[in-house]
Amino acid sequence: MSKPCLFCEIAAGRMEAEIVHQDDQVVAFRDIHPQAPTHVLIIPRKHITSMVDIDADDAALLGHMHVTAKHVAGELGIAEQGYRSVFNCGRDGGQTVWHIHLHLLGGRSMGWPPWPGP
Ligand code: AMP
Ligand code: ZN
Repeated sequence: MSKPCLFCEIAAGRMEAEIVHQDDQVVAFRDIHPQAPTHVLIIPRKHITSMVDIDADDAALLGHMHVTAKHVAGELGIAEQGYRSVFNCGRDGGQTVWHIHLHLLGGRSMGWPPWPGP
C-alpha cells in the first residue's frame, strides 16, 4: 500500500499540526521549519498533487486559498506590513511535499529574486 499523503493526514486530523484556521475547504497550519517569523501553509482538503495538476474546476478553491491567506495574515498581524504568498511547483520550483500548499510568509522583509540566478 502506498504511504498516506502527509497533508491529507493533517487535514483529516490524523497527524498533528498547529492549526491557525480551518473551514470546510481549507486548513491553515504553521510550517514545521519556519522561514520567517510567521510561516503558515494553507492547504485544500481536496488532494491535488501539484499546481501543474489543477484544472478550471479548481479555480474557486484556489481563490479561496488566497482569500484565506489574507484572512490569516490579518489574524496573525502581518497584513499591514505585507507578506509573501507562494506556491512552489515541481522540482525546479522547490516543491517537496506533493499536496499543494500556499506558503504565507511574513514578519520580516523578503528579498527578490528569491534566489540568485539565472
Ligand atoms: P515545499 O518545499 O514548497 O513543498 O514546502 C513544504 C513545506 O512543508 C516545507 O516548508 C516544510 O517545512 C513543511 N512541512 C513538512 N512537513 C510538515 C509538517 N508535518 N508540518 C508542518 N509543515 C511541514
Ligand atoms: Zn494529500
